[in-house]
Amino acid sequence: MAATRGPRPRPGVLDIAPYVPGTSALPGAQPAIKLSSNETPFGPSPRAIEAYRAAIASLSRYPDGSARELREAIAKLYGLDPARIVCGAGSDELLNLLATAYLGPGDEAIYSAHGFLVYKIAILARGATPVVAAETELTADVDAILACVSPRTRLVFIANPNNPTGTYLPFDEIKRLREDLPADVLLVLDAAYAEYVRKNDYESGIELVATSPNTVMTRTFSKLYGLASLRIGWAYCPPSVADALNRIRGPFNVSGPAIATGVAALEDQPWAQRGVEHNELWRGQMSEALSRLGLGVTPSAANFLLLHFPKGNGRSAPEADKFLHGRRIILRRVEEYGLPQALRMTIGTEDENNAVLDALASFMGGNGAPRR
Ligand SMILES: *Cc1c(COP(=O)(O)O)cnc(C)c1O
Repeated sequence: MAATRGPRPRPGVLDIAPYVPGTSALPGAQPAIKLSSNETPFGPSPRAIEAYRAAIASLSRYPDGSARELREAIAKLYGLDPARIVCGAGSDELLNLLATAYLGPGDEAIYSAHGFLVYKIAILARGATPVVAAETELTADVDAILACVSPRTRLVFIANPNNPTGTYLPFDEIKRLREDLPADVLLVLDAAYAEYVRKNDYESGIELVATSPNTVMTRTFSKLYGLASLRIGWAYCPPSVADALNRIRGPFNVSGPAIATGVAALEDQPWAQRGVEHNELWRGQMSEALSRLGLGVTPSAANFLLLHFPKGNGRSAPEADKFLHGRRIILRRVEEYGLPQALRMTIGTEDENNAVLDALASFMGGNGAPRR
């Protein structure tokens, strides 16, 4: 057959199950409440929108390939060395560049059982072998990760907090992991939700990157800053890792409008802070109200909740998902994360959250269940 003589992807590529994003639309013309992708309900800062509009004037010009202004704005906000920041087209690109730089056939990389699925894809795409560490109570388990280390281990990915569980590891545990991992294993801390975490024992990774030569932290503008569509992420790296990433990234991997908009978004910290406060308030209220309906709610440090449904009597997660679609509400199915009886819900606006509560009260209680 001609097909067998054609080009064939390298080993591993066809083992990849393509990433399936959260449902983003329902059939029909009426608007839906979309709480499936952990986007902020408030959109970007008005200052960011203004900067994006102004960037139209320079669309014919290549952007600054080093994204210097954006790196400097990030560095100023967090007190970092801009030379150790690498920006990317979303943190997805950076996670993949890290895999390209450090993984190849024969190498192993570890992530945890319900860890973000981009890691598995990034590992397989380099022909490397994914090694999955068990979790404890839907939380990454440092001892289980350490038990997975072999002479072939090159990299460990941890989302902290993790998506889709929302659980996090305290800094003591992250430090312990770093201390006990071999020095030549790169630890990647994906802190996509760091801005939302309000826990005294949490640290996003900045401190560890500053003090160890083998830890990287990635961050994103896709969540709190409301710029998911612009694709902006950044990594804070040891100098040698920044050097490696800068050699292999596309020379203009972050667009001019993305650089300008990201800088403006960072300048509007009051806007970001309002988003964090709204999330803090509603994550707590929703956790309590949904628990009262009889749902299991995993404690979350991020801007979403993982809801666990009972298996039987018409109240399963797939049935809930269908019911919610009937009310034009979109949550996230998480079967491919090994969680077939759960749905993930992004914290929305007050109205959106109340619509979910109303719908799930009807779903769980039949009719007439109390709303709160
Ligand atoms: C949303 C998310 C990201 C962000 O990806 P971008 O490419 O920056 O949009 C990264 N890691 C995790 C765990 C996420 O949930």
